[in-house]
Amino acid sequence: MKSLVKAKPEVGLWMQERAVPEIGPEDVLIKVKKTGICGTDIHIWNWDEWAARTVPVGLVTGHEFAGEIVAKGALVEGLSIGQRCSGEGHLIGKLSRQSRAGKFHLDPATRGIGVNEPGAFAEYLRLPAFNVVPLPDSIDDEIGAILDPLGNAVHTALSFDLVGEDVLITGAGPIGIMAAAVARHVGARHVVITDINPARLKLAAEVADVTPVNVASEDLREVMARLKIVQGFDVGMEMSGNQRGLDQMIDALVMGGKIAMLGIPPGKSPVDWSRIVFKAITIKGVYGREIFETWYKMIAMLENGLDVRKVITHRFGVDEFQTGFEVMRSGQSGKVVLDWA
Ligand code: ZN
Repeated sequence: MKSLVKAKPEVGLWMQERAVPEIGPEDVLIKVKKTGICGTDIHIWNWDEWAARTVPVGLVTGHEFAGEIVAKGALVEGLSIGQRCSGEGHLIGKLSRQSRAGKFHLDPATRGIGVNEPGAFAEYLRLPAFNVVPLPDSIDDEIGAILDPLGNAVHTALSFDLVGEDVLITGAGPIGIMAAAVARHVGARHVVITDINPARLKLAAEVADVTPVNVASEDLREVMARLKIVQGFDVGMEMSGNQRGLDQMIDALVMGGKIAMLGIPPGKSPVDWSRIVFKAITIKGVYGREIFETWYKMIAMLENGLDVRKVITHRFGVDEFQTGFEVMRSGQSGKVVLDWA
């Protein structure tokens, strides 16, 4: 089968032939139809320090997918051949206290497909049946292929109550934009999203009813005054990993405000903790998504009017994967979806 492989410890990915994976008694085999390119895949393509430390050379990459079950192990119940599906890419352990308490997303032994284990950038993917998320007819394959990052957005956005709240999102990448759409969908009053990339801010305003602010040329305080956000934002979602973004967020938050933090700062960065203490701010680190509660809520919202399709800006056949990665690396795109059919 065709597979996108990290074949060499250098920049790039390579299309190679691999054997179709064999499945165990509790696995299914999925014929992959569409896949999304993630920021994680760009790190792996670029072979940065994190990727070189984490990803084994020779690995089939990719973790955002939709497809169809074509084979199942002898012990698999409740799933059938032909079932359309996406799936949770975190393969959890079953021994930790967290896992045994049902907090699967907090299991420390988690391994990721396309990062530690063979991934979804291939014609076929083996996945434990436990990880499969069936897709209703109303969710097509291209939306199915971006449920993984949408899950990050939903998990971040639902970290705190947003009903009637003023929300600040720093970083208008695809996940920030989708989180903005979710915040509007669940009833936030104002959603302001900041970035310094005009293309992404424009996309944010196309996807969701939000106020985009280019902090390189606009004053956030003026925007707040215009929107009558008097004391500050109630909830912040930090999606940029940028020190200045977090600083600005702490500054613009109300007393007792809350921050959900998904952006990953590069290395250690200085934080003015006194402001966090005196403003009585709560910060929650967000990793992955709740398995499977986030999936449940995300699908329910998609079936009830949440529309994030416009965040997909580029679609390519998988043979054009290099163009797809170049578009992603340019920083001028939303989600890029590859078609394996
Ligand atoms: Zn992803």
